[in-house]
Amino acid sequence: MMRTLCVAIVLSLTSCGLLQPAQAAPAQYSSDIHGQANASADEVWNSLIAGNSRFVEGKPEARDLVPLRRKLASGQSPKAIILSCSDSRVGPELIFDQSLGDVFVVRTAGNVADTVALGSIEYAVDHLHSPLLVVLGHQKCGAVSAACSGEKMPSKNLDAIVEKIGPAVTQAKTYAKPDDLLESAIRGNVHRSAEDVLANSDIVRDAVKSGKLSVIEAEYELESGKVVRLNMPASSQK
Ligand SMILES: [Zn+2]
Repeated sequence: MMRTLCVAIVLSLTSCGLLQPAQAAPAQYSSDIHGQANASADEVWNSLIAGNSRFVEGKPEARDLVPLRRKLASGQSPKAIILSCSDSRVGPELIFDQSLGDVFVVRTAGNVADTVALGSIEYAVDHLHSPLLVVLGHQKCGAVSAACSGEKMPSKNLDAIVEKIGPAVTQAKTYAKPDDLLESAIRGNVHRSAEDVLANSDIVRDAVKSGKLSVIEAEYELESGKVVRLNMPASSQK
């Protein structure tokens, strides 16, 4: 019901010319490891971007949460899984203007995919059958900034985060100018997290291979509020 409603809203906004197409950042990364986008995943992404446009404009959808809350008490069927940073400025339900039951959110500092995050994602893929996984980084990420600094962390737990982000920083240093290092590392870290999910989860990899799941990489802009897609759809490549 909710998905049908969202699709209807997207179609309505599209026909009115109000829905901005998914913003395409420079095609830095290939999406061939992320599976062919299936129609369902495309619809979900379009509905998330429509919600992000509402958020940017400061015009969130009016919602009657009480009946929805009661309806969802019997079960959930989230349309998307979002792996995002824990940063307090990047709440996925808010920035995509989504409601109760719409998105299954996994958050870690630096949007890193450790084993618990992976297990959470697998649950949503295997049991809830969400067709889309969004890996979402953001500008001025403190976790990536800490990894760029090279400073020793005060605990092994903080070290575990920085170590996960380290390879993206090392790679960014090979091509980014010093002023661009943080932003390049943030985008590289989003890509690496997506790769980590696929490399370390048979469930996710099989779902992508069979066309049941698509993976989209994106970055949130703190000031504008926009979510920008980083990996281009396979259909637009070559
Ligand atoms: Zn962050």
